[in-house]
Amino acid sequence: MEQISKSDTIALREKYLSPSYDLFFRNDPLKIVRGKGQFMYDELGNAYLDCINNVAHVGHCHPKVVQAGCEQMALTSTNNRFLHDNIVLCAKKLISTMPKELSVCFFVNSGSEANDLALRLAQIHTGNKDVITLDHAYHGHLLSTIDISPYKLNLPGGPSKKDYVHIAPCPDVYRGKYRDTSYSEEELGHLYAEEVKEICKDVCSNGKGVSAFIAESFLSCGGQIIPPKNYFKEVYQHVRNAGGICIADEVQVGFGRVGNHWWAFQMHGDDIIPDIVTLGKPMGNGHPVAAVITTRAVADSFQKTGVGYFNTYGGNPVSCAIANAVLDVIEEEDLRNHAGKVGEYLKKVCESLKNKHEVVGDVRGAGLFVGVELVTDRNKKTPATKIASYVVKRMKEEKVLVSSDGPDENVIKFKPPMVFNKQDADVLVSTLDKVLNEVKEIPELYVSEKVSNKSSLSVKQNGNEHVKCI
Ligand code: PMP
Repeated sequence: MEQISKSDTIALREKYLSPSYDLFFRNDPLKIVRGKGQFMYDELGNAYLDCINNVAHVGHCHPKVVQAGCEQMALTSTNNRFLHDNIVLCAKKLISTMPKELSVCFFVNSGSEANDLALRLAQIHTGNKDVITLDHAYHGHLLSTIDISPYKLNLPGGPSKKDYVHIAPCPDVYRGKYRDTSYSEEELGHLYAEEVKEICKDVCSNGKGVSAFIAESFLSCGGQIIPPKNYFKEVYQHVRNAGGICIADEVQVGFGRVGNHWWAFQMHGDDIIPDIVTLGKPMGNGHPVAAVITTRAVADSFQKTGVGYFNTYGGNPVSCAIANAVLDVIEEEDLRNHAGKVGEYLKKVCESLKNKHEVVGDVRGAGLFVGVELVTDRNKKTPATKIASYVVKRMKEEKVLVSSDGPDENVIKFKPPMVFNKQDADVLVSTLDKVLNEVKEIPELYVSEKVSNKSSLSVKQNGNEHVKCI
């Protein structure tokens, strides 16, 4: 399966690929030649338990998905100006999982494209330009989506924030701006929502209106943050009062990842209904297919411009055959409920590590999207960035792949393929336990570094040898 040696692969990569590409574990990168279920295999046949690849949603190379793609590729793949059953059946299936208001589908090829189209729809529908985004969020690599991704703003030599973009604090109740434990969750939700209200007020007082508020319903790059109760309810109201619409970015957390619900916005109550939902990553289980789902009113505003929507590959028969197979497998294998049950178990066993390891500050998550926040001081909540980096590296040596994220890169993230099971959870947590025991013997890891002020407006230094996982 290996065509050239690993050292040649590295040499060719260095010679021919842009140096801007990041590599996981760059001091000792992995060469992956095969994937199956929740495992990835290197060129020597070593199996790695994959807790990084939420894209391989129903399991690496699921036979039903592979077969659907191969069969359709052997028949035809052409653009959507010809009638084809796959695109309409896929749209119908996706829409059947959404609240009834969300009834119109656009097909694109990536999460970035989906968010770019969502911004365009919002501008056209509202007639406004200003966008509210959350601190540390990532929404894509296009010019338009980098603008609204504080995760990528104000890095040394990187783009700076544009005037039409407004950054609200990340609603992190553990280590964010509002975290006082004497407040109830609802009160914290209110305090964070008031920040968005203030931005709306400022925008309107300058004679403008809001175009869109965009957020993940469960923030990934921010460090596996579940916004507190009431947050979205109040924020959606403020944004709509300011003339804007609400975009839920489900690129990472959609398709049942959070357990039971299809979509992460549904975790926040039946009354949370976005105007636009963007989908990506898991939709094709590794194949590039993504979508935007919106209301009839928003779609009609776009249509009234008279500018047709065309996207050469968006919704092609092969992509839609694959997306249909992914949706079928989620149902047939009951993966949403599975993610709910295994995720609860995973959180419980991670929680038990708190009693053994002072460094485990917080465990949070829903379904198979879990974060363990490491701190060197539980009272001060000092981020344990060096320890997190050590943990990621050592776990890889133990053949368990995890990543770290959050503004201080101190949150260990678990987002495995949805076929991950309780036995895998035991392996994951016993390996983490072993590595955290080692950490106790390495005092240098506790020396605190310069801590970010939890705002993207501070400069991030990524000195770690693994890279963040978006
Ligand atoms: N939104 C979110 C929340 C993401 O995590 C990502 C990618 N990591 C994107 C959008 C962009 O998706 P893509 O890389 O497919 O363009």
